Amino acid sequence: MVNHLEVPILETQNLTRYFDIGKKQVVHAVDGVSISVGEKEIMGLVGESGSGKSTLGKTILGLHNKTSGSVSFRGQALPQKYQSKDFQKWSKKMQMIFQDPYSSLNPRMTVGEIVGEGLRLHSESDAVKVKERVADWLSKVGLQADHMSRYPHEFSGGQRQRIGIARALILEPEFIVCDEPISALDVSVQAQVINLLGELKETMGLTMLFIAHDLSMVRYVSDRMAVMYLGSLMEVGKANEVYFDPKHPYTEVLIGSNPEPDPKVERNRPSTAIQGEIPSPVNVAPGCRFASRCPKVMEVCLQTTPELLPLKDIDRSVACHLYL
Ligand code: SF4
Repeated sequence: MVNHLEVPILETQNLTRYFDIGKKQVVHAVDGVSISVGEKEIMGLVGESGSGKSTLGKTILGLHNKTSGSVSFRGQALPQKYQSKDFQKWSKKMQMIFQDPYSSLNPRMTVGEIVGEGLRLHSESDAVKVKERVADWLSKVGLQADHMSRYPHEFSGGQRQRIGIARALILEPEFIVCDEPISALDVSVQAQVINLLGELKETMGLTMLFIAHDLSMVRYVSDRMAVMYLGSLMEVGKANEVYFDPKHPYTEVLIGSNPEPDPKVERNRPSTAIQGEIPSPVNVAPGCRFASRCPKVMEVCLQTTPELLPLKDIDRSVACHLYL
C-alpha cells in the first residue's frame, strides 16, 4: 500500500470548472476540488452520472480549461490554459484512457497509426523504431503485431479498449486518468481489461485516477477512493475502509444501492436505496449539496456548505455537518 502523503505526484487545490450556458446560468461541473494522488497509487473516483467525475479528469489533464484553482504535477504548477506546446510537454507525462472505445479511435486510421501517433508527435521520425514500439505495445496489451495494419471497426469492444490503452501508455506516462474504461464493454471482457490495467500498473509503476460508477470494481482496483457529488468531494479515504465503513450519508446510500457480486459480502452490508435524482448543477444553492436527498439533513445543512475535513482518529476526510 502506498503512503500518498509522502509522495504526492498529482495535486489539485480548489480546482473549479464552470460552464457558462447563457442567461446568467452557470453549470458548476467541478467546484473547489482538492485532491492528491501518491506515486504508484490508484485513486478511485466514484459518484453518480452527472457528478462531475469525467470533467474533473479532463480538467486535470488540460482538456478543459480551469475556471479557477490549480493543478500541480510533482510540485510544478500546470498552465492555467493549455497552448499546443503545453500539450506537447505534458502529454508525455500524463495521458487519458477514454470511456468509449468505439468513438475514441479514429475509424480512418489503422491501429498502427493510432498507437504510434503519440511517438510521431513527440519527434520520433524513425518509422522502423515507431513500428517496433507499436508492435511491442500491441503485444503488451494482448494483441498481435499484425493487427497494426487493420482498422478499429475490425475489432471487438474489448480489443478496441486494449488499443486505447496501448495508445495511452506507449509514451510511458507517469500519470493516467482512466475515465470509466470498462463501462462500454460486455461484462465478460470487463475483468480482462481490469486485470490488464492491474498488470501494467505493477510492471510500469503507474499512478492512476480511476473513474467509475461501479463501486465494487473501484474497491477492487483502488488504494484510496474519493466520492464526488454535484461537483464536490464528499468523502476520501482508503478504498476498503470507505466501502465497508462509509461515514458520509451520500457514500452510505451510494454503496447501499450498489449490487455487490460476492454474496457473503452482500449479506453483511447495510442496504439503503438512494432516493431521487441528482439535482441540476446549474446555479447550485448554498449549503450542503446533498441536502435535498439526505436522510439526516439538519437546519445548518441548508445554510452552510460543509468543508471536506479530516476526521479524528481515522484516516478519512468527510464534508458533512454531522462531523463538525
Ligand atoms: Fe446530510 Fe447535512 Fe451531512 Fe449534508 S451536511 S450529508 S445534508 S447531514
